[in-house]
Amino acid sequence: MRAVVVGGGIAGPAVALALQKVGIEPSVVEARPADARAAGSWFTISPNGLAALAEVDALQRVRALGVPTRRNVMTGATGRTLGTLSLGAPLDDGTPALSFHRPRLASALLDEVAERGIRVYEGTRVEAVSESGDVVVVDLADGRRLTADVVIGADGIHSAVRACIDPTGPAGRYVGLTNFGGITRNTPLSAALAAESWTFVFGRRAFFGALPTPAGDVVWFANVPREPISPAERAATTLGDWRSQLVELADADDGPVAALIRDGELELAGDNTFDLPTVPIWHRGRIGLIGDAVHAPAPSSGQGASMALEDAVVMASSLGRADTVQEGLRAFEHLRRQRVEKIVAMGARASSTKTPRGLRRVLNDTAMRLVFRYVVTERSQEWVFAHRVRIETPAGTGDRDAGGR
Ligand SMILES: Cc1cc2nc3c(=O)[nH]c(=O)nc-3n(C[C@H](O)[C@H](O)[C@H](O)COP(=O)(O)OP(=O)(O)OC[C@H]3O[C@@H](n4cnc5c(N)ncnc54)[C@H](O)[C@@H]3O)c2cc1C
Repeated sequence: MRAVVVGGGIAGPAVALALQKVGIEPSVVEARPADARAAGSWFTISPNGLAALAEVDALQRVRALGVPTRRNVMTGATGRTLGTLSLGAPLDDGTPALSFHRPRLASALLDEVAERGIRVYEGTRVEAVSESGDVVVVDLADGRRLTADVVIGADGIHSAVRACIDPTGPAGRYVGLTNFGGITRNTPLSAALAAESWTFVFGRRAFFGALPTPAGDVVWFANVPREPISPAERAATTLGDWRSQLVELADADDGPVAALIRDGELELAGDNTFDLPTVPIWHRGRIGLIGDAVHAPAPSSGQGASMALEDAVVMASSLGRADTVQEGLRAFEHLRRQRVEKIVAMGARASSTKTPRGLRRVLNDTAMRLVFRYVVTERSQEWVFAHRVRIETPAGTGDRDAGGR
């Protein structure tokens, strides 16, 4: 059986590797050209996502690119700690959650795909996907046409494949926050931050995160509550302008964040953040979806990449076990919908705590200490981090908890 995977971000390469493992012959189409892979900043992959990477034999290759990230330390605008949240028990080999520079991870995964003999078409966009008898036809922007027995849309939140499956389906929902990410190299300010931890600041004007790396750098991000940034505003604003605005926002809080941004460089600027809570139609005929294309959580969930990796393994297992493509796509939805929609809802709640208003901010710190003590705890998050997916063909569940349920 031949598959075309649309999208060479995180979910795309992972599903290609997983499909090959179950005996399906994939190829990957990625819109970005090979010399423009370097877009984006940092995100974290928790043990549930790392286990999926291990399942497609890719963890070994990318582990050294990741920065160990054992916990999130939540602080208020005065620098006072509001709570600490573990990012889950490490894998059996001791690997804890890892934070990655997204472009570096995506690039390494695509290299791995190519090295395993999987064809990668880079620098060309998929424009249309349609069924014709027993095959799916994929039209590329450069005029080429591919055919396959199944097409997997792993083309992100603004998925073209999703629109081909259901032109009336929902689009991404703006979550009220813009996202900026950057790095400050070789800085003494890293000593002010807890090691192997994201320090999150529920600031007076914005939400910030900072993570020290073993190399002595600090990676950081800012979520700014505001209306979405228009293309015109983006075009008129330089990186220096954005940085000045962020420094001004961070200056309202105690702690090292304002100085970090002042001394650092922006890698991701003015990204409007969206989520995608419920997509009614996940597949049609021989065309399916995974990752952000079908269930994007807001970045605040910290689970976008991990969910995409879990999906990749479960999709390949489902197709590998099924008698027909349609049955495989149905099985995938059945195994995944409930979990991913619960995580998207969790991300939406987390985003809403980042949009403080005036006096409520003061009350929030007290309320939040209680939340991190009694509600959002290591135990309450275990269903997220301890989940394990496996490639199992032809029998087995392909998707189960660490407890073997
Ligand atoms: C350029 C970029 C930068 C990002 N930076 C960050 C970040 O700094 N922090 C963070 O938390 N998250 C970031 N994300 C989002 C994050 O990668 C995803 O939320 C998550 O990893 C889920 O992965 P995914 O593979 O489903 O989707 P994505 O990672 O979005 O990957 C989708 C891929 O599909 C490709 N694509 C889209 N349309 C087509 C088409 N028609 N034909 C062919 N290819 C297509 C895109 O170029 C992309 O490579 C970024 C995403 C992108 C695309």
